[in-house]
Amino acid sequence: MNLRCNVCSIEIDEKEVDSHIGTPQHLENKSKISTNGKGLDKSVTDMWYKSLG
Ligand SMILES: [Zn+2]
Repeated sequence: MNLRCNVCSIEIDEKEVDSHIGTPQHLENKSKISTNGKGLDKSVTDMWYKSLG
């Protein structure tokens, strides 16, 4: 079963969640969101998602 990572706006396998949240990419995206606002801002992730195509 695939789950959606709201931080990276990607789908990942449920078995890979534990390893995914420890990846540099995820941590970097998470830190960017944190510096842009409080916690996870859905509008921010939506904007990223569009910019990423
Ligand atoms: Zn992620």
